[in-house]
Amino acid sequence: MKILTISDKVVEGLYSPAIKQRFGDVDLVLACGDLPPYYLEFIVTTLGVPLLYVFGNHDQGVFTSDGKFKYAPEGCINVDERVVKAQELLIGGLEGSMRYSGQGEHQYTEWDMRWKALRMTPALWWNRLRHGRFLDILITHAPPYRIHDGTDLCHTGFKTFLRIMDIYRPCYLIHGHQHVYGPHTAIRTTHHHTQVVNTYGYQVIYFDVATSNKG
Ligand SMILES: [Zn+2]
Repeated sequence: MKILTISDKVVEGLYSPAIKQRFGDVDLVLACGDLPPYYLEFIVTTLGVPLLYVFGNHDQGVFTSDGKFKYAPEGCINVDERVVKAQELLIGGLEGSMRYSGQGEHQYTEWDMRWKALRMTPALWWNRLRHGRFLDILITHAPPYRIHDGTDLCHTGFKTFLRIMDIYRPCYLIHGHQHVYGPHTAIRTTHHHTQVVNTYGYQVIYFDVATSNKG
């Protein structure tokens, strides 16, 4: 299964009809936040496959050309605090970044994120009973603590994500938020059973359902 993952940056090659030639064969698109609704809507419409997303700390809605305020992309599936089945994969999501300013949506303390993760627990255990595994992929905006994260408060990762990887063993944790400035920045790191991928811009993932981690 081929998966296109995106976040943080509108990539010219994806926001053009050429996307159909390059990525017409993807089965699924996962978006990890800080992207304008029009971009997600263009991709979901052009590729015609499910697009699952979480919001980032900069997703505050936009005004469209006809003066309407648009908060969420149409035709896409918000998976924050949920686990959904798409193309045979179990995909969970946790939006937002570490809280660094008094105002602004999609910002959370470590404690808040712990509660958000806790609200996913019934769905995860249901999957374990039903499918023999908790989840295949977790999409987040922020990275896990000390994996691809930054040292300032805004870019510090969540310890909660480490716990989720340790307990529920997704094959992948895909995140954005941390910008990648050059080829020397680590964007794929293995943490126990999980490959952590920073999808800043875009990445392609090949997923073999037969080898997914059994819980
Ligand atoms: Zn961000």
